[in-house]
Amino acid sequence: MPTAPQTAKESLTQRGMRLTRQRQILLDLLDKTGQHLDADRLYALAREKDPKLNRVTVYRTLKLLKEGGLVDELDLMHQRGEQHFYETRKKEEHAHVICLECGKVEEFFGEPLAKLREQIETMFQFQIALVRTEVGGYCAHCRLERERKSA
Ligand SMILES: [Zn+2]
Ligand SMILES: [Zn+2]
Repeated sequence: MPTAPQTAKESLTQRGMRLTRQRQILLDLLDKTGQHLDADRLYALAREKDPKLNRVTVYRTLKLLKEGGLVDELDLMHQRGEQHFYETRKKEEHAHVICLECGKVEEFFGEPLAKLREQIETMFQFQIALVRTEVGGYCAHCRLERERKSA
């Protein structure tokens, strides 16, 4: 059953956390860019807003936001090694379609994801708390390149 939308503040307060200035800055960045940013990129962007922020704080804050259910951490098929990416939970549920060659990431939104959820819940009597769908393959451009190389 869908829960009522919560503000970031409510969501954190529920977990006994405060929405500090650093947390707000990072959340705003993730909401606004709507992209999948790694911690270093986020750190660079956050520094533009507050030059006093340091790397350790940014990493720690990301971890907290993740635990607070406001941010999703993705590995995107480990396209960049151990690097992880972050995105806002505010976005509608979507699957990540990742090119294993160039690392391009597409987002797939749509009904099939809701169906998948329903079927899993029914089939396993399972209450889903979190869904993360990743699809790896080759984008149109890289497919052509690969065909050319193997020809
Ligand atoms: Zn590609
Ligand atoms: Zn995404």
